[in-house]
Amino acid sequence: MIEEQIDRIKKTLPQDVHLVAVSKFQPIAAIEQAYAVGQRLFGESRPQELAEKHAKLPKDIQWHFIGHLQTNKIRLIIPFVTLIHSIDSYRLAEAVSVEAIKAGRVVDVLLQVHIASEQTKQGFGVDEIEKLMDSGILKEWSGIRVVGLMGMATYTDDRTLIEHEFNTLALLFRRYNLLILSMGMSEDYPLAVECGSNMVRIGSSIFGQRY
Ligand SMILES: *Cc1c(COP(=O)(O)O)cnc(C)c1O
Repeated sequence: MIEEQIDRIKKTLPQDVHLVAVSKFQPIAAIEQAYAVGQRLFGESRPQELAEKHAKLPKDIQWHFIGHLQTNKIRLIIPFVTLIHSIDSYRLAEAVSVEAIKAGRVVDVLLQVHIASEQTKQGFGVDEIEKLMDSGILKEWSGIRVVGLMGMATYTDDRTLIEHEFNTLALLFRRYNLLILSMGMSEDYPLAVECGSNMVRIGSSIFGQRY
């Protein structure tokens, strides 16, 4: 039961940790069930799917985009998206800023940091984040406001490795005095919270398997 899972997870989260219910690939009815028990933060990873769900569902939902964003899909989500977790390149940051300005918005975003040992995960390197934050270039992207960092740990049973990766991101987050640290998924969110996460992105533990 979706309601029970949300309830159970919320009980384990400290008050100041935001729960993003990751509803990608889930039907409208599943999101409505979560909405019915008060969930208002949802995360999606495909622009088209997000735009369709936004059109069909209540307007007080806050939609977060968490997937890899192609520049030609930005305009599908820019009018309404609350937070983009996955700014993973200069080119994307600049393009989102341009589209946000066109839409008359300043959009909150997170910089995605590559903390995992896997090659496949997207994001800036730690050294690139340092350069970016120290360079003053953020001010030139006037359509976006960088409010924090997002990262994904390696998919592994090695708790020490995951902890090390989360701590690396948390250190960077604290150094730059940011607001949002988005880390932790179904498999690793308790550890992420221990390491200082204040926003967890949970899909399968709430909604079950994705099809
Ligand atoms: C799918 C996804 C999640 C949720 O993953 P679960 O393991 O289902 O909790 C979180 N973050 C990102 C970036 C995702 O793509």
